[in-house]
Amino acid sequence: MSKKSHINIARRGLLLVLSSPSGAGKTTLSRKLLEADASISMSISVTTRAQRPGEEDGRDYHFITKETFAQLRDAGELLEYAEVFGNFYGTPRKPVEQALQAGKDVLFDIDWQGTQQLAQVMEDDLVRVFILPPSSEMLRERLINRQQDSMSVVAKRMAEASSEISHWAEYEYVIINDDLTTASQAITAILTAERLKRKRRTGLTAFVRELLSGL
Ligand code: 5GP
Repeated sequence: MSKKSHINIARRGLLLVLSSPSGAGKTTLSRKLLEADASISMSISVTTRAQRPGEEDGRDYHFITKETFAQLRDAGELLEYAEVFGNFYGTPRKPVEQALQAGKDVLFDIDWQGTQQLAQVMEDDLVRVFILPPSSEMLRERLINRQQDSMSVVAKRMAEASSEISHWAEYEYVIINDDLTTASQAITAILTAERLKRKRRTGLTAFVRELLSGL
């Protein structure tokens, strides 16, 4: 039996962004990651769009009015925000800052516009992952199978998908989600490697100093 490491080196938290067109499996992948890893928590966005069946206020989004959204934005309480399909979405600033300070990671399900804004303010902490569907047929099928949206919304989302996909090269990692388990393992591997990056491991200097002092 292998011995488990007890050495815990302090590190900065990171911001893991998952972007994709709707229907590429991002929500499922996010859920799997959150279930498997206690050190990462989801950034819960505010949105002005209507709640879908099965969604929970405070878990999937904070559903708010356009007026409240404008107040939050004007008070500087949103780290980034964007308009998608005529609705507003934004990331509350405080929970992200608190998590980073505590050495915890934060997972974001945001679009390319939000990712660009995050890169402007916190590039060093950011890890960008883009999820692609395996084919256009598969994407269409997934959007229709959801049945949470009307057909006109599905058609609109298909049109928006190509615009979202056109930003794929702005991301460090690209995953093609043709198999959930494989895609999920890839995200875990990315997270493991990014957590091990020297620049994030603030406790390493002290560890090495201690190590050298014993030699
Ligand atoms: P949906 O309405 O399907 O939940 O999300 C629509 C799109 O909005 C998705 O591409 C999702 O990533 C994006 N989105 C959700 N929350 C945010 C946010 O806080 N900021 C930004 N920029 N995009 C978001």
